[in-house]
Amino acid sequence: MSLQSDLHSRLDARAVLEHYGAQNCRDQAGPDGTTEIIHSCLIERVEPHHNNGDQNPSACLNVEKKLYVCYALGWGGDLLRLIQKMENADGLGDLELGGMLTGSVKKADDLRAEILKLMDRSSPDAVELPSYSEAILAPWMVSHPYMRDERGIGQSAHEALKLGYDPKINRIVFPHFFDGKLVGWQTRAIPSRPGWPGTTAQIPKYKNTPGFPKSETLYAYDLVARNRRVVVVESPMSVAKAYSLGIGNVVATFGAKVTDTQIQLLRDFPEVIVWFDDDPAGRAGERNLVQSLYRHTQTSAVAPEEGRDLGDYDDPTAVRSTLMNSIPATIILADYARAERYRS
Ligand SMILES: [Zn+2]
Repeated sequence: MSLQSDLHSRLDARAVLEHYGAQNCRDQAGPDGTTEIIHSCLIERVEPHHNNGDQNPSACLNVEKKLYVCYALGWGGDLLRLIQKMENADGLGDLELGGMLTGSVKKADDLRAEILKLMDRSSPDAVELPSYSEAILAPWMVSHPYMRDERGIGQSAHEALKLGYDPKINRIVFPHFFDGKLVGWQTRAIPSRPGWPGTTAQIPKYKNTPGFPKSETLYAYDLVARNRRVVVVESPMSVAKAYSLGIGNVVATFGAKVTDTQIQLLRDFPEVIVWFDDDPAGRAGERNLVQSLYRHTQTSAVAPEEGRDLGDYDDPTAVRSTLMNSIPATIILADYARAERYRS
């Protein structure tokens, strides 16, 4: 058993919540007889993204599976990732790791070293991306009417992104390539419609292959010319829509939560235009990106049009003009600063 899985197996979910003083905890039945603890979001403390401090709890921790999710943020991960998020390398010395473990704590120093290694993204051991043979995609190389007719995803996007459909599970397939390798895929539920046999409402909307490197990569990154500007959106579906409208050089972060590794990747482009969804998580993600990028590269963000995301556009001219009218980072940050002064 590797040290990391040893650490993971010994972490006590309730002790971790107690350690961070989680509020408004209540148990509920999870899947397969497991227990979930609903509680006010802990990530809120390190990355505020709720309006009222999450008094109406949005976070959930599965006790047996040791999986954490904030439904508002759309971020989930195992307990180690949560601890990693709650601590930074500087604060780790004070971390009372022993109190969060079951069983013997004699290896606590080793375990601390292991967490440090996990946090150090530059460490070659920190992240090993999964890798699959591309042959696995062959049976799915068909397009579903949901993509063509309802989402307006055209043939060129299907070809460029190798989009597909898996009839066995009745879901759209978004393969994810990074550094020339197939590192996994996301599948998306198809809404139930008359004439589409077998489609029933499926939950969750998106499912990932095991170990899907959501935090360490960007979707469609391999297709972007490095010498140009890049548009960054939240979802693979938005990338597919952009390609359908003849707009390439678009990458996705797999959600509004953007990681340091993703920011590093984006910094290498001469120009970045942020086009996140028009909701609180999207606005928070946009702000984080603009603040993290503007000193390193020419950064701007698309002005939010109420309730309308890139996926809702059907006119390439409208998309191009929206991109051309993106707001420079300096103006966005000044607006944020003004809003904050106004509030206090
Ligand atoms: Zn949250």
